[in-house]
Amino acid sequence: AIELRDVNVALGSGPARVHILKGVSLSIEKGEAVGLVGPSGSGKSTLLMVLAGLERPDSGAVTVLGENVAVLGEDALARFRGRNIGVVFQAFHLIPTMTALENVAVPLELAGEPDAFERAEAELRAVGLAERLHHHPAQMSGGEQQRVALARALSNRPEILVADEPTGNLDETTGKQIADLLFAKTAERGATLVLVTHDPALAARCGRVVRLRSGRIETVTDAAA
Ligand code: ATP
Ligand code: MG
Repeated sequence: AIELRDVNVALGSGPARVHILKGVSLSIEKGEAVGLVGPSGSGKSTLLMVLAGLERPDSGAVTVLGENVAVLGEDALARFRGRNIGVVFQAFHLIPTMTALENVAVPLELAGEPDAFERAEAELRAVGLAERLHHHPAQMSGGEQQRVALARALSNRPEILVADEPTGNLDETTGKQIADLLFAKTAERGATLVLVTHDPALAARCGRVVRLRSGRIETVTDAAA
């Protein structure tokens, strides 16, 4: 589903320019759950952004679902992401002025989905938020906000879900609930999951764990082994 070949990424300019990813090659099969781990600053978030089509590599090839995303124009890339990739961040990233329902429905509507509000409501019910449809983010707990973010990420039925420390801002119990949902929903839909986490227990639930160090892949291990 995802193929990276000798990917290099440098970000920032002038003296702040940093060579972040240094020749990363990685293949991820459809339906796989891959954990991305490694020390702070090793390039996990950057790698996730690259394979979600949110950051372009300076060199190397990034093929997602057969599409060479490194060469797509901005609009085509945005449409490709909207159709195929769901993203969940540590800090929820909900729109504060919108209700839970609107946070999920409005992006769907913008993507041209005719039944956006029905679909959004169904997604929110599926993550256990039937009683929170008309709440604003500030009126919800962190766990509830992350459920909204997860419902939004899943609402376009993406083939790929990427999550950057989705439980990082949550207590252990709430984090476990979100992780359970994340694994259950992606498995149920046969979606590919790429998950950045500092939590070894969470990484161990992935089929494969990729460890980064200083912008390079250090090890790839089967979690079951
Ligand atoms: P963490 O676990 O702390 O989230 P990470 O593994 O996700 O770390 P990245 O966010 O990918 O790490 O960053 C890797 C390195 O690239 C860091 O040293 C960071 O300072 C640097 N970096 C990230 N974004 C930029 C940018 N826009 N400009 C310059 N340097 C950047
Ligand atoms: Mg990070």
